[in-house]
Amino acid sequence: MSLTDTLARIDTDVLQALAPRTDAEGRFPREAIDALAGAGLLGLVSATAVGGQGRGLAEAAQVVTALARTCPSIAMIVCMHYSATAVIEAFGPETLRRAVAEGRHLSTLAFSEAESRSHFWAPASTARAEGEAVLLDARKSWVTSAFEADSYVWSSKPVAADGASTLWWVDAKADGLSQPGRFDGLGLRGNASTPITAQGVRIAAGQRLGADGQGFDIMMGTVLPWFATLSACCSVGLSDGALTRAIGHVGATQHQHLSTSLADLPTIRAYLARGRIKADMAQALVNDTIAAIGAGRLDTMLRVLEVKAAAAETALEVTDIAMRVCGGAAFRKEAGIERLFRDARAASVMAPTSDVLYDFIGKAVTGLPLF
Ligand SMILES: Cc1cc2nc3c(=O)[nH]c(=O)nc-3n(C[C@H](O)[C@H](O)[C@H](O)COP(=O)(O)OP(=O)(O)OC[C@H]3O[C@@H](n4cnc5c(N)ncnc54)[C@H](O)[C@@H]3O)c2cc1C
Repeated sequence: MSLTDTLARIDTDVLQALAPRTDAEGRFPREAIDALAGAGLLGLVSATAVGGQGRGLAEAAQVVTALARTCPSIAMIVCMHYSATAVIEAFGPETLRRAVAEGRHLSTLAFSEAESRSHFWAPASTARAEGEAVLLDARKSWVTSAFEADSYVWSSKPVAADGASTLWWVDAKADGLSQPGRFDGLGLRGNASTPITAQGVRIAAGQRLGADGQGFDIMMGTVLPWFATLSACCSVGLSDGALTRAIGHVGATQHQHLSTSLADLPTIRAYLARGRIKADMAQALVNDTIAAIGAGRLDTMLRVLEVKAAAAETALEVTDIAMRVCGGAAFRKEAGIERLFRDARAASVMAPTSDVLYDFIGKAVTGLPLF
């Protein structure tokens, strides 16, 4: 079965009924994870040598975009999983890579911390050597799939080396990890994006991903291209989902005394046209970013910085348009638009936030160093 057909089947069989419940109950969409694992999609970007599908960012983008049209929560969970997988593939041990490749293992990124907030590149959390072991202490402020994932790609200050950070993989069941509360967010309510506290969490020194002190380079060189692009795919997919629902509503809704539908109003059509243009522009930028990364183009870093901000802000505008053209009807949950409107708010405040990206892009185009 093609990837498109597989995604369509999961959408029909699982996501369409599950997405409103995931949002209403704020519950982790385990059934969707199981369906993705069963279809081999958790191992999509793992190498064939370890049992994965050996696909790349373009196919990951296809998956995340398709999921986000119906359920942005599961799309963000998968975005985090693929971003973590990129690090595990490059720096992780073979056993872990095999577990991910075979779809037995969900991972995520545990970067943001209470002390440095959205400035994920500057962890305050610590890693102390104790013989062959390392002890981790941290106050992670947000971790998607917290205590639902099997492992975390985790940042800390280096043990001994210079540099801003070191990365580790941490078993989600490790002693000393605790969850200060459940996640009850405005949107992406299925994400289980809770804080995680680590107190003296003992891991093996071999659970380091990359060299001590290399974390910043891995964040910028490996994580950011995957996360920025796939976060943009969440925004593009949910924009598309909101427009599709809005177009369906305005075509089917009549002012009976006039014998016209909402789609007969030029104002409504013009709003939809603006929304469509915005969403298509964001999709085109996603496509160009993937092309730039694939070709190693000189403008790759600029595209990576642009794509998440552009798509996140587009999703805010497009979901606003979808709410407006559907009038009071969109206030009700049945239309499914207010859920996407709420979900859309997350991307612009997820790190790197849109405002931080504007600052980085401004520095890049004026020739200043980013940090
Ligand atoms: C649904 C959801 C899921 C998440 N999942 C994860 C996850 O899986 N892993 C993870 O590591 N993190 C995750 N995060 C955290 C996220 O990446 C950010 O770290 C977090 O949203 C930042 O919120 P804050 O209140 O700490 O922001 P703050 O840092 O307090 O920022 C507040 C405001 O100040 C602005 N600001 C800050 N610095 C600058 C600057 N230099 N220039 C201009 N403006 C600036 C920001 O843009 C923002 O508008 C998640 C967040 C959300 C909402």
